[in-house]
Amino acid sequence: MSSSHKPSAAVTAELDCFMQGLEKRNPGEVEFHQAVREVTESLMPFILENPKYKDAQILERLTEPDRIIIFRVTWEDDAGNIRANRAWRVQFNNSIGPYKGGMRFHPSVTQSVLKFLGFEQIFKNSLTGLPMGGAKGGSNFNPKGKSDREVMRFCQSLMIELHRHIGEDTDIPAGDIGVGGREISFLFGQYKRLANKFVGTLTGKGLSFGGSLVRTEATGYGCVYFCENMFNRIGDSIKGKTVVVSGSGNVAIYAAEKAAELGGKVVTMSDSSGFIHDPDGIDAEKLAFIKDLKEVRRGRISEYSDKYASASFYADARPWSVAGEIALPCATQNELNLLEAQTLLKNGVLAVAEGANMPTELDAAYAFRDAGILFGPAKAANAGGVAVSGLEQSQNALRLSWSREEVDTKLKTIMKDIHEKCVKYGADGEHVDYIDGANLAGFVKIAEAMLAYGAV
Ligand code: NAP
Repeated sequence: MSSSHKPSAAVTAELDCFMQGLEKRNPGEVEFHQAVREVTESLMPFILENPKYKDAQILERLTEPDRIIIFRVTWEDDAGNIRANRAWRVQFNNSIGPYKGGMRFHPSVTQSVLKFLGFEQIFKNSLTGLPMGGAKGGSNFNPKGKSDREVMRFCQSLMIELHRHIGEDTDIPAGDIGVGGREISFLFGQYKRLANKFVGTLTGKGLSFGGSLVRTEATGYGCVYFCENMFNRIGDSIKGKTVVVSGSGNVAIYAAEKAAELGGKVVTMSDSSGFIHDPDGIDAEKLAFIKDLKEVRRGRISEYSDKYASASFYADARPWSVAGEIALPCATQNELNLLEAQTLLKNGVLAVAEGANMPTELDAAYAFRDAGILFGPAKAANAGGVAVSGLEQSQNALRLSWSREEVDTKLKTIMKDIHEKCVKYGADGEHVDYIDGANLAGFVKIAEAMLAYGAV
């Protein structure tokens, strides 16, 4: 809890008691504990002021997934070896719509990681204003270094089990780390074959088979729109500011593209091997190189500094020592710690918008909040991706395709609405606490639906 957010003794006691119970019920799930703690610290004062939520045990019910499906995925590699991975689908809460959330393929995937992501997704989806419940899934499969045929066989095998549990009105998976256009295409092709119907059960599809324009760009663009909204509220903008970005995947690339389009100077990008610093700025032409490098050739970010003399590569390091007025963490969870937050603050950072999910450790997030800078938490700042996934579902149901301009306009409107909701629930005088604002705004809609349903 931040020093400027001094909770009452009653709130602290209730919070400690709740967290002890949660940690006992979910031993060892540290990422899940972290995500629940952040949300609960915002919600507890509100819940104590509104006993109807406590009486109905809303928090206890909201932190227990509706169900978790765990299954083995057996597949054959190119050398003819039999391989086995574990996969999950965490169907967390469908109070306000069918389950919706991405699939992650990465060796670091565990049940704890997917529960934290699924829990966050409930609030994020609520904030979009669209009828979507929260879910997440994935596997400890590592797509890195695998051939296209191996990835195809893995995706097809995974879908043989997953298809029983999903559907356009039940649960609609999408992409996340390690699951991009290639993987969604393999997954959708197999789903269509098993279900014998062509419906929008996955989002992030190719444009020729039901995908939406702007879905690829939506999370990164949305994050930058949210950041611009935070600046506009205080009479400022991204224009002319230096932007430090982490990651070089789907979210990072399009966050960098939009930040540069709005007049920012993007100076860093990274991957799990290190970061590049280009003081001249990463413009559209250089970004086209990165897109080809990461999306087509599946290479490493260090190749950027081989190509551009203005850039340096720093192995096994993160970009937060580089000075900038804006930081956009867009790689993965817990990639920005307290020490790095203090360095960013010392170097004059004015805004942080989370493109990735929970990239900022809790004490680092509170350091930004206590310093009074603009801090856009993931569930608000990166909701643009799932929002356009929701729009993809609408287009599939209508059997229509909207133009790029139509979808982008809707995305901008949704991000503006999310920003307004955060201000409504998080404003304290001139200052807005976007963490509290996002948590409370997301919560109220779900909690009201759960109350209306009675004890289910
Ligand atoms: P992606 O295309 O697979 O890219 C992930 C990027 O993060 C890559 O540059 C990757 O580097 C880096 N990375 C992954 N794990 C890392 C680690 N442990 N340490 C350092 N770098 C690491 O995935 P993405 O879709 O951009 O997702 C990035 C983040 O945004 C995730 O937190 C995801 O949950 C969140 N998000 C994504 C969406 C979406 O629409 N895709 C929506 C909302 C939120 P390597 O290539 O070296 O692995």
